[in-house]
Amino acid sequence: MVISFLELLPAYKELKLELDAAWYRVMSSGWYLFGRELELFESEYAAYCGTKYCIAVGSGLDALHLALKAAVGEKGGEVIVPAHTYIATWLAVTQAGLQPVPVEPDEATCLIDVNRIEAAITPRTRAIIPVHLYGQPADMDAIMKIANRYGLFVLEDNAQAAGARYCGMRTGGLGHAAAHSFYPSKNLGAFADGGAVTTNDESLCRRVRMLRNYGSEKKYVHELQGMNSRLDELQAAILRVKLSRLDDWNKRRKQIAEIYNDEFGKLALMEGVQLSTPKQAGYADHVWHLYTIRHPSREALIGHLAQNGIQVQIHYPIPVHRCPAYLSGGRHSSWELPITDRICQTILSLPMGPHLSEAEARKVAAKVKEFLHDRKQAIV
Ligand SMILES: *Cc1c(COP(=O)(O)O)cnc(C)c1O
Repeated sequence: MVISFLELLPAYKELKLELDAAWYRVMSSGWYLFGRELELFESEYAAYCGTKYCIAVGSGLDALHLALKAAVGEKGGEVIVPAHTYIATWLAVTQAGLQPVPVEPDEATCLIDVNRIEAAITPRTRAIIPVHLYGQPADMDAIMKIANRYGLFVLEDNAQAAGARYCGMRTGGLGHAAAHSFYPSKNLGAFADGGAVTTNDESLCRRVRMLRNYGSEKKYVHELQGMNSRLDELQAAILRVKLSRLDDWNKRRKQIAEIYNDEFGKLALMEGVQLSTPKQAGYADHVWHLYTIRHPSREALIGHLAQNGIQVQIHYPIPVHRCPAYLSGGRHSSWELPITDRICQTILSLPMGPHLSEAEARKVAAKVKEFLHDRKQAIV
């Protein structure tokens, strides 16, 4: 028996009747872009996030980029980003003509360390992008306080945390704007690329709406130098079906996470081995996009799991500041981010998803424990 890291087909099978009906409805409507499905999805997703507006775009990266461009403009400046994140967070900053300034994570949660943000602020700082990494919200109260003190724009990167809550409120409605990704493997995944910006700011909404459509509100009147970044009617119709299951499927992810926590919680651990996922912050209602553990002999552990038919992944094996894309340029090469380096050297993600069975999760946990036992690196 092979246990995949994530299977997407079971999601289609479970919702086949509704998804096929949605697909058929769009195909036979004769209208494929900027139609009724998009309008309905945007209003349903805004309501879900608790925001006034939702502007759907072509991808999560576009959502980050267009929100930054609309809010900060082309004036230049710096944007505070987590050092430990997916490269898209940084790329959006660079694409908007701004400079990413990385801040180290809190090693216990892997989220941006709010106690290090102020030291990174300069007169050129324009914005902060907290990332709700692995499905767990960043500490938004602390971040909004700092942002308000310095007049900074806060853009949540909610690509991994659709449906999460912070102090009872949904992520995506906590900052001045938020970027969402509907990449197929995300908690709310389409069957192709997709993304969205949510916000309560009407003028920001208007600018993002124009930017995604060649900078125009009225056909052939181009107010801004925009781009083509649309969510098509098929994906919008599919996402409407999947949105109706998001809470339910997030609950299943939580059940899997509880099984892992339960299995690993009994282990007394030696230094350097962190078995349960990074400590959950007290304010957070985690949606378990990923379940990560850390081990100093990660490659050997991955080998042991692979021998037993268990596939894992690493998020992320190379920190952004060490990617060739960000190595050129004098200033970048001087970044010293030892916490991020340490996390990237030791972290791995176990199989996780709404269609993983309890038996599969127990087997994964058993094989992890077998490895530790053989190496006597942890005692039960
Ligand atoms: C997936 C992801 C993105 C980018 O989303 P795409 O839809 O793939 O462009 C941005 N930020 C984070 C943290 C992500 O995980």
